[in-house]
Amino acid sequence: MQCPYCGHADSRVVDTRTTSDGIRRRRECLSCKKRFTTYEQISEALLIVKRDGRREPFDRHKLTQGIRIACAKRPIAMTDIERVVSQIEEHLFSLGKAEVRSEIIGEMILEKLKELDPLAYIRYAIVYMEMEDVGSLQKELDRLRSERK
Ligand SMILES: [Zn+2]
Repeated sequence: MQCPYCGHADSRVVDTRTTSDGIRRRRECLSCKKRFTTYEQISEALLIVKRDGRREPFDRHKLTQGIRIACAKRPIAMTDIERVVSQIEEHLFSLGKAEVRSEIIGEMILEKLKELDPLAYIRYAIVYMEMEDVGSLQKELDRLRSERK
């Protein structure tokens, strides 16, 4: 199990709890000693409801790819991206739901990217939130600019 903070491949389990929807494990990285939580079984059960009503299983890899594309050529470390992915994943599972709408995930990603990098945030907003029209993009940019003052 890869550490979301430093990317080290080995960790030890410090606590295991079985809940109604899966196994929750507290792990400690053998390299940086930071702790993180992993979920088993439940991650296979969580379904993402797409805009058109289709459902697909939650895919951490896909989530990472989407964020990586938005962060391309930005000064953002892969470990930061992994950390964001883990935080989103953890948040998703903490909702304790069997299904989550894709917009909810989109909003979580936007919130994280906003803290991480304004350009990556805007990129993600354009691609995933279908903010195609120039007007709403301009509005978002203005809002972002005034927030950063
Ligand atoms: Zn680590």
